[in-house]
Amino acid sequence: MKLILLGPPGAGKGTQAKLIVDKYSIPQLSTGDMLREAVANGTEVGKKAKAVMDAGNLVSDDIVNAIVSERLDQDDCKNGFILDGFPRTLEQAEALSVMLSEKGLGLDTVVELKVDDEALVERVSGRYTCGSCGEGYHDTFKKPASEGVCDRCGKSEFKRRQDDNAETLRTRLMAYYKETSPLLGYYFAKGDLKSVDGMGDISDIFNAVDDILKSV
Ligand code: ADP
Ligand code: AMP
Repeated sequence: MKLILLGPPGAGKGTQAKLIVDKYSIPQLSTGDMLREAVANGTEVGKKAKAVMDAGNLVSDDIVNAIVSERLDQDDCKNGFILDGFPRTLEQAEALSVMLSEKGLGLDTVVELKVDDEALVERVSGRYTCGSCGEGYHDTFKKPASEGVCDRCGKSEFKRRQDDNAETLRTRLMAYYKETSPLLGYYFAKGDLKSVDGMGDISDIFNAVDDILKSV
């Protein structure tokens, strides 16, 4: 299974990606996670990306295309992958198309998660993750079963993203509508786009996503 999850920041791409990973045993390729790791490790890419990410703008296509191309060459992507947060511009979509054909990999489907803007603000401002395994949580909508303890790994250290604040979210949303939303038309025209209502319960949304995955 080779798919792209498309949607604005906070739509639930990472949340659904983790459920797909559990069911289909394919890796989640989140460019946001890869860039945050590069920033944390102080690599050259990280140094170039940090200020751009903190401001909520998009990192350059060249940088992001290169990290995705390198990641796709790893063995665990042979049987499939979930692209989460990439592509985000038409140039990235074209670059992806070229790199997939050069690597002899195809794309099965593109799933769009449709979520109201007000809900995005609520979701992003309450988001936190386990500092150890990366499991995602929300102050209201997805609390750990036992308070302060990660459901997945049992650790008790959580973190919040620096860019998950109302002001930066506005810039990120503008980047989404300006740069990323044209990809909906791009993939629709290719016959690859499937849209899912992302406003319901996480498990109901997963069932709708999974119905699509079972049909491709
Ligand atoms: P994205 O990867 O698209 O930026 P996330 O998957 O990180 O979004 O989700 C953003 C926040 O919203 C997280 O805190 C997550 O727990 C929460 N969330 C995800 N899906 C839903 C949903 N269907 N209903 C309510 N909250 C959700
Ligand atoms: P995300 O974790 O997907 O919300 O991404 C966090 C930030 O990383 C974004 O606001 C961008 O600054 C940067 N980023 C992630 N993916 C991309 C991408 N495909 N193209 C450009 N910038 C990206």
